[in-house]
Amino acid sequence: MSIQRPARRSWAEPWKVKVVEPLKMTTRAERERAIVEAGYNTFLLRSDDVYIDLLTDSGTSAMSDWQWAGMMMGDEAYAGSRNFYNLEETIQKYYGFKYVVPTHQGRGAENLLSQIAIEPGDYVPGNMYFTTTRLHQELAGGTFVDVIVPEAHDPLDERPFKGNIDLGALEALISKVGAKKIPYVCVAATVNMAGGQPISMANMKAVRELTDKHGIKIFLDATRAVENAFFIKQREPGYRDKSTAEILLEFCSYSDGCTMSGKKDALVNIGGWLALNDKDMYEEASNLVVVFEGLHTYGGMAGRDMEAMARGIVESVQDDHMRARIGQVEYLGRRLMDWGVPVVRPIGGHAVYLDAKAFYPQLTQDQFPAQTLAAALYVDAGVRAMERGIVSAGRDKQTGKHHYPKLELVRLTIPRRVYTQAHMDVVAESAACVWDDRAKATGLRMTYEPKYLRFFQARFEPL
Ligand SMILES: *Cc1c(COP(=O)(O)O)cnc(C)c1O
Repeated sequence: MSIQRPARRSWAEPWKVKVVEPLKMTTRAERERAIVEAGYNTFLLRSDDVYIDLLTDSGTSAMSDWQWAGMMMGDEAYAGSRNFYNLEETIQKYYGFKYVVPTHQGRGAENLLSQIAIEPGDYVPGNMYFTTTRLHQELAGGTFVDVIVPEAHDPLDERPFKGNIDLGALEALISKVGAKKIPYVCVAATVNMAGGQPISMANMKAVRELTDKHGIKIFLDATRAVENAFFIKQREPGYRDKSTAEILLEFCSYSDGCTMSGKKDALVNIGGWLALNDKDMYEEASNLVVVFEGLHTYGGMAGRDMEAMARGIVESVQDDHMRARIGQVEYLGRRLMDWGVPVVRPIGGHAVYLDAKAFYPQLTQDQFPAQTLAAALYVDAGVRAMERGIVSAGRDKQTGKHHYPKLELVRLTIPRRVYTQAHMDVVAESAACVWDDRAKATGLRMTYEPKYLRFFQARFEPL
């Protein structure tokens, strides 16, 4: 019998391995002990007890030899480091913004933007919330309003741009509260909490037209804007022959600035920035950054970190890199779909999201189905994932009740340039085993709940 040749060419990685990091293997008995000690929260596991770590793609990328060489070129001057100027020029070139304020990571930039732009009583519309982004908006006295398209909440809807802004919902908010109460629209590209779904260029342009009519600014959460650009290249008519870099530049041109976590797209372990086109806002930000992060030419980063991030940006916009990056995530997603394991569709940019509600129809949302599933995955094969459901959604700041998100997901997040196709096979096999055992799950009870961003440190025990 002959094996059929696949019709498509492979997405194989455009790099080879130069240094390896051995992984520790654990037994099932060891993992059962470890998850109890961690209070059934994968954030509280020791990474030494993890085999394949898909907790996050944040700060977990492998750097290239060119980035490591850049680390040796660190200029650790307190003020005016040459690495800052290289970073600034690189951001200006690839993202197109005028002014750059470095920060220690994305939330540092979110804090600065929120403090500068938001007045108490303001509303900040966005395409689905992100944990740290919404918290900083709330700490500044604002109220986040979700204006994402409704299909974003349906894990089976196959539409290509489920991160889009619902223009009708945005317009309704503007007429209800008035444009003066809306300092900016926060546009995330891609949308992490919706499953890494992209927003289209056409939608971004339309948001720009609408906000221009009302004098409202747009700030991007550009954390995964390069992945978003690659999806536009793949899916949106008219963009196939443009490079990822060209698409990124056009996309950013419809906004007034961005917050950025360099720990994602930009292929570094730490770092971030705030970018702005408005000179007055920039002056305020470069003053405020001194209070929270450090001088405006380092913002909490060492010179070598800024150099690694500048070089990471250059590598991140290469089409070959993105094809392998998105291709690997897609590969894992396809395996799971072929085996009937329920996942969010279409497969997103940085992660495959398991649909915990479909795994465990016997559990109510108060019994934490996604938290339960993440713990079960770890015990099965040492794969660490993250809950993105009711625990991550937190409580309503007015009523104190749980937010009940429509999606109850477990995120298998793929670090960039770290794991191989064989690792993806192990992950898929483990998720399929947990799927086979789904009827046995009985849920969890929360025994400790921290006040802020509870998903990081909450503890649970089995029901
Ligand atoms: C990670 C992330 C942030 C916050 O960035 P940090 O570097 O973790 O502080 C903001 N928005 C999105 C969409 C993210 O994924």
